[in-house]
Amino acid sequence: MTSNIIDGKKIAQEIRDEIKNKIKDFKQKPGLAVVLVGEDEASKIYVKNKEKDCQEIGFYSEVHRLPEKTTENELLDLINNLNNSKKIHGIIVQLPLPDHIKEELVINSILPEKDVDGFTYINAGKLLTGNNGLLPCTPAGCIELIKRTGIDIKGKEAVIVGRSNIVGKPMAILLMQNHATITVCHSKTKDLKEITKRADILVAAIGRAKMITAEMVKDNAIIIDVGMNKDEHGKLCGDVDFDNVKEKVSFITPVPGGVGPMTRAMLMKNTLEAFLLQTNGGK
Ligand code: NDP
Repeated sequence: MTSNIIDGKKIAQEIRDEIKNKIKDFKQKPGLAVVLVGEDEASKIYVKNKEKDCQEIGFYSEVHRLPEKTTENELLDLINNLNNSKKIHGIIVQLPLPDHIKEELVINSILPEKDVDGFTYINAGKLLTGNNGLLPCTPAGCIELIKRTGIDIKGKEAVIVGRSNIVGKPMAILLMQNHATITVCHSKTKDLKEITKRADILVAAIGRAKMITAEMVKDNAIIIDVGMNKDEHGKLCGDVDFDNVKEKVSFITPVPGGVGPMTRAMLMKNTLEAFLLQTNGGK
């Protein structure tokens, strides 16, 4: 079976083009503020990419780079200013934060309508109760990838490996909202292979290089690989053993070039959505 490799880069570009087109006649442009505390090298790259995406689309953007020793109160003050800024419609605080700052407290100080990461208790609660607010970007991106590939989720058996608050759990809820029958697995799951082999849609959000092997997947399954790991040669790879699994399944996302670009695109989509909410449809 030759699988179809889902091109996340191409679909993400389509989404950016759609947003660009939507905002071209807006007098005011959607504004995104990105806050980075400290010197984490990966975070610096993520922040640069977000700035680049805003420039390409035509969003207004602000990046606040703060020193490692920034206090919790200083950070909360900045978020308060951004909450009140008319130019800013979306706020994202790049994680992880330095140890002396309480992440939960900082995230939940962002106004829910500006919480474009979808991490606040309010947006998480809305997702759980089916009154979707701003959705977390990675799981929303996975759903978009599946839908834009023309796959009907309804009635499918979906297995999610991973139960984190930012990927596994919201992914499970979104798949359930889309009428899949879901099973969530984690590090204490017994007989993981028996469960993953049942999946029509398998989402791997584990953080372990190439852990999902060909014998763990069903013929013709749809595989969404969220993982971002380094392989034995230091090369970026997913949680799925891509080369072997791709021979067996009907659709699979590569790493890089699958879920990653979609996460970025969904942040832009959320910023537009936040802008439309706050400006009464941009008028
Ligand atoms: P976490 O470490 O928060 O969660 C990992 C989950 O995997 C946990 O629920 C854990 O179980 C489970 N797990 C770990 N080992 C096993 C195992 N041997 N068998 C079954 N389950 C296991 O990670 P995240 O959810 O934040 O991220 C997951 C991956 O996705 C990472 O590689 C991360 O880099 C990547 N990622 C990629 C993004 C993108 O844009 N492409 C965005 C966000 C994340 P337990 O709960 O029992 O500990």
